Amino acid sequence: MCFLLQLSIAARKRKTMYFAAIQGYTSIKQRLIHVAQTRQVPHAQLFWGPEGSASLPLALAFIAYLNCHHRLEDDACGRCVSCLRAQKLVHPDVKYVFPTSATKKFVGKEVVSINFLKPWRTFLHEHPYGNASDWSIHLNNENKQLSISREEAKEIIQAVSFKAFEGAYKIVLVWLPEYLHVTAANALLKVIEEPPPHTLFMLVSVNPDRVLSTIRSRTQQIHIPAFTDAALSNMLSQRYPLDRTQLAQVTLLADGNLNKAFKLVENATRGYFERFKSWMRLCYARDLTQLVAQSGTFQEMSKTNQRDFLAYALHMLREALLLSFTQTRLTRATDEEREFTKKLGQVLTHQKIKKWITWLSQAHQYIERHVNPRILYLDLSLKIGDTFKP
Ligand SMILES: [Zn+2]
Repeated sequence: MCFLLQLSIAARKRKTMYFAAIQGYTSIKQRLIHVAQTRQVPHAQLFWGPEGSASLPLALAFIAYLNCHHRLEDDACGRCVSCLRAQKLVHPDVKYVFPTSATKKFVGKEVVSINFLKPWRTFLHEHPYGNASDWSIHLNNENKQLSISREEAKEIIQAVSFKAFEGAYKIVLVWLPEYLHVTAANALLKVIEEPPPHTLFMLVSVNPDRVLSTIRSRTQQIHIPAFTDAALSNMLSQRYPLDRTQLAQVTLLADGNLNKAFKLVENATRGYFERFKSWMRLCYARDLTQLVAQSGTFQEMSKTNQRDFLAYALHMLREALLLSFTQTRLTRATDEEREFTKKLGQVLTHQKIKKWITWLSQAHQYIERHVNPRILYLDLSLKIGDTFKP
């Protein structure tokens, strides 16, 4: 298959707000689709599952499906106005509610979800399986207590008093209702029990036992189990260039928690970024003494690490290639990584990046064949260095 075509398929699979982007959970998806098609959607549902399960992505995919204008048999169309808005988390018929905390900019009554939508959207696009603590870190508010306030409850009641603008349903999505302040929860009891027509409440919880029982008892519960190993492994390989051994290791350690799996891979690659950056700089400077020294360090790494590092370097080059072709990004990358690959894409032609990809893929295979890693690495560095010449 052509390389660019592969990239485009991978990019579509990355749209997190659709059933297709979530591996596994077949019977739950079928059940949700069935209730949507037969118009038997319960007015208040509680999706609950362990951290790193697909409870929030499934609820978001369900919301996209419910309001899609051209539903397919097994998913939202992904193209209509409603789908595009659902994908961007800007749907006018969906009220997105999540725990927040005071910041320098927002205090008191202003500490409501609507003022934090922008960071929440970025958070969900970057960490669709993230937890409350990841969200706090994203907000730069780690030391403050998250909560869903009474003020927020008032906003919810007001939002559901309006009719749906364009979708079939008005939907209130509450991520982590365990953070509902007791006064907020009490204020919502009546509206959750008897919402206005065509209004749905979708609560997504990690600890349903911590959700006030008066709220919980008013919802229909859907248990979302952890990912199966097979589904988790598929999700991982769509996002990261891992070989079979790495995939098996991470899958084993993650134990069905996709959030944990992503973190395991990212922590492992973080050191590689620094190494990759310094390697590229030495190649560019064609600093032979330093390159010889670095080849020695490379040789000291374990075979698995050498392979992982080259796989990581390949991943970065593909990112650079994609960025320079389409201005979109294929994979999850930190801002720093993205900035660096962008610069690489600016300095190098597509032909040169493709050449590097071929050389690195070959080197990756040679390591298996017990070629002297020091010579392999030095040879590779010199070839790369030469291509920097105009
Ligand atoms: Zn649609």
